[in-house]
Amino acid sequence: MKKPLKYIDQPDPTWSALAVESFNVTPRPDAHDPMVLELDGNCPRCKDHMQHSEFLIAFKGVAPTSPETLRATVKTLRDAGMINGPLLPVEFSVRCRCQVVHPDGLGRSGLTGCGATWKMRIESVDEEHS
Ligand SMILES: [Zn+2]
Ligand SMILES: [Zn+2]
Repeated sequence: MKKPLKYIDQPDPTWSALAVESFNVTPRPDAHDPMVLELDGNCPRCKDHMQHSEFLIAFKGVAPTSPETLRATVKTLRDAGMINGPLLPVEFSVRCRCQVVHPDGLGRSGLTGCGATWKMRIESVDEEHS
């Protein structure tokens, strides 16, 4: 078995391009009015599986978890004029959150993932997804 990569603090721009290709993006509650993008794929640096939920709007307090409460929250925010128009395209940064322990050269503990961070830009989401 290959030794896990060392934890890293230096970003690498090439990860963004790799990540865009390797991640499945699932919009919640639906593609028509996405509020949350669920990313599922492999970290572009360490290639380990990871997931990321990106909230396109800031929720006060606890973020809604079920599609129904999400939809209701969105409707409330739209009715209140706090959201105008579609929330895409969007650009955000993602940090590796894989479950593999990557050794840290600086001896820090409690680190998650391999330390890679990268930018993802989502132009749109498809109505159908597999
Ligand atoms: Zn990893
Ligand atoms: Zn990683």
